[in-house]
Amino acid sequence: MTSTDATPAPRDTPPAGESPSHDDSASVEARLGRYREKRDFELTAEPAGGTTAPHAERPFFCVQKHAASRLHYDVRLEVQGVLKSWAVPKGPSPDPAEKRLAVMVEDHPLEYGDFEGAIPEGEYGGGTVLLWDVGWWEPDLARRKQARPARHDAPPTGAATPVGSAAAGGATPDPEADLAAGELKFILHGEKLHGSWTLVQMKGRGDKNWLMIKHRDDDARPGLELTQDSPLSVSSGRSIEEIAEDASSGAG
Ligand code: MN
Repeated sequence: MTSTDATPAPRDTPPAGESPSHDDSASVEARLGRYREKRDFELTAEPAGGTTAPHAERPFFCVQKHAASRLHYDVRLEVQGVLKSWAVPKGPSPDPAEKRLAVMVEDHPLEYGDFEGAIPEGEYGGGTVLLWDVGWWEPDLARRKQARPARHDAPPTGAATPVGSAAAGGATPDPEADLAAGELKFILHGEKLHGSWTLVQMKGRGDKNWLMIKHRDDDARPGLELTQDSPLSVSSGRSIEEIAEDASSGAG
């Protein structure tokens, strides 16, 4: 590549500046390492993952009700080819006054998004899983603009604003950077969950502990306990008891 009018080199290696980005399949495989280490796919019906392409236009989200040793709700947001996941003991609440503890757990494969059924007792997460909500999500750019720039994105005083940086008014969606900075504001388009939410890391409580909070908007429902009000699976219409019974009788 010494002449500007030369025939382009064969593209079997990416030119400088076009090296595989962090959302390539090798990176997804690396991100799923912890998930796979915890599970024996000969014993559990959970997916090993790694075969589904990311949803470029509309990133996926789901919430699974998980009757494990302790009942909780797993909130999962698609980011860079995997499902970033939090275990929420009380489940998400559409009441902005309810700040729900959300414990970050290992990234899950995109294929987990339609998993419903039983995980054998004795296996990791043993118990019954109900697909409580599904849909897609997007960064809440309007609220993100109001926020301070993520610390590591802040340019030195007087410096030019970096091109393409999230610091440029906060309007560039970079959920991974927001999560690394400890706060993600996002809009859910689900069957049960709607509107704007935040996930914010708690300070001084270890890096796993976050809070999931509904923003005050038209989709807020003060006083509504949605997990009680709307307990059934969005994919099968079953209750968690029915899923457990079907699994133990071999019906899936
Ligand atoms: Mn779980």
